[in-house]
Amino acid sequence: MPATMARGWQDRLAGMLRAALPQICALCAAPAGTALVCAACDRALQRLPPGCPQCALPSTHGGLCGQCLSAPPAFDRSQSAFVYAFPLDRLVQAFKYHGTLAWAGWFAQAMLAQRARPPAADVLIPVPLARDRQRERGFNQALEIARPLARRTGIPLLAGAVIRVRETPPQASLPWAERATNIHGAFACAADLTGLRALVVDDVMTTGASLDEFARTLKRAGAASVENWVVARTPTPGGG
Ligand SMILES: [Zn+2]
Ligand SMILES: [Zn+2]
Repeated sequence: MPATMARGWQDRLAGMLRAALPQICALCAAPAGTALVCAACDRALQRLPPGCPQCALPSTHGGLCGQCLSAPPAFDRSQSAFVYAFPLDRLVQAFKYHGTLAWAGWFAQAMLAQRARPPAADVLIPVPLARDRQRERGFNQALEIARPLARRTGIPLLAGAVIRVRETPPQASLPWAERATNIHGAFACAADLTGLRALVVDDVMTTGASLDEFARTLKRAGAASVENWVVARTPTPGGG
């Protein structure tokens, strides 16, 4: 049977087993009830403390960081549930590269648990993958996380209208000077977003350059404001 069929069948079986059997924690193998991670490991994961409201990096007194003051990005706000560090990075990688889709709901739950109330937004937009990359992976991780967020917040999901024209090398692998050129023109938006408050969903925010370009694209399409909502943030702009 083709690999994709085998994967689909295995995922369905894994889902059925999860529903029927108590879970083993994905990080320490202790019993975890119906959760994917046990309560002790969950507590030990590094939550991102409140920082710069615009880019979510550490800042003094919760004000804008120096970077956002000197060169403001196109997005207006950012929020991340976790610091992108061990062992959470392993969970994100398992989700992304091994298609462990059950994690999408867990990530969404962690993102929601961090805020007292869902962010005010008119439309939820997952960062798209280029068509080839999505075909290769079989799914878009940002869309999988955005689905449960849309269900639970009631914010309408807009997927497909914003596309990634081309895949770009990971920003972190490039020297700073090349990052802006690398990502420039990577996205295109076919929807009219005039006056809408967009909430952008992604798995990991690293340098913020892709999300900056994405926000620029949404604003050119008329978006009134753009807020990033991600699972994890690398702790320093150059990291990850
Ligand atoms: Zn555990
Ligand atoms: Zn900032």
